[in-house]
Amino acid sequence: MAMKKGKNSVKNIKKKVSKSKPKKTKKIAVKKEKKIVIDTKKLLRLEEARKYVIDLAGEKGLEVFEFLIAKGEMEENLLAKKLKFEKANAIRKFLYKLYNKNLVSYRKVRKNNKAWYTYFWSANPSKLVFIIQGMYEDEIKQTKKAMELNKAEDFYVCDICNRRYDVNEALQNDFRCKNDGGVLTHMEPGKILEDKQSRIDFLNKKLNELKQLVK
Ligand SMILES: [Zn+2]
Repeated sequence: MAMKKGKNSVKNIKKKVSKSKPKKTKKIAVKKEKKIVIDTKKLLRLEEARKYVIDLAGEKGLEVFEFLIAKGEMEENLLAKKLKFEKANAIRKFLYKLYNKNLVSYRKVRKNNKAWYTYFWSANPSKLVFIIQGMYEDEIKQTKKAMELNKAEDFYVCDICNRRYDVNEALQNDFRCKNDGGVLTHMEPGKILEDKQSRIDFLNKKLNELKQLVK
């Protein structure tokens, strides 16, 4: 407890020191942030990209997302009008669903000191690329894990009655069947592993395609 207190007080001193520094450093840090440019035409042709947006926000949500990508930032009422929504309220449902996954973002502006804000929406296509990339990477990880488990499931089988033995059981019985004395032959779940490997190869190919969308 005493140590923690000591650490904290050092931190506090450090904080105070950094606070007294001129604000210039912050501005430089913001400038360094690089904007990611995506080949959006290719992205919107990817079936998995379209499916993700439709699952998230419906066909109408995909339409909103595509429109914002094509037109750039747009004021909410104008966006609703262009996409033939009856009210701005009606489009918000779709915008919020997209916003929940960071696929769109907004900027609010108070016009002429009025009490309400005007919302300007824009699309973040790079986020969609990274989401799908993450999905592929997760599946590759899971498949690799499953392959490891399958490898551990090596077994032996009797050449007479086909009874299965795990490695320990086979060892205990000197690689002979308990029922009929048949020879136990080592079996590998080769086909399962092959299938899983080809799935991984496929996903890696997809990942490469995605990486090429980033300019
Ligand atoms: Zn047997």
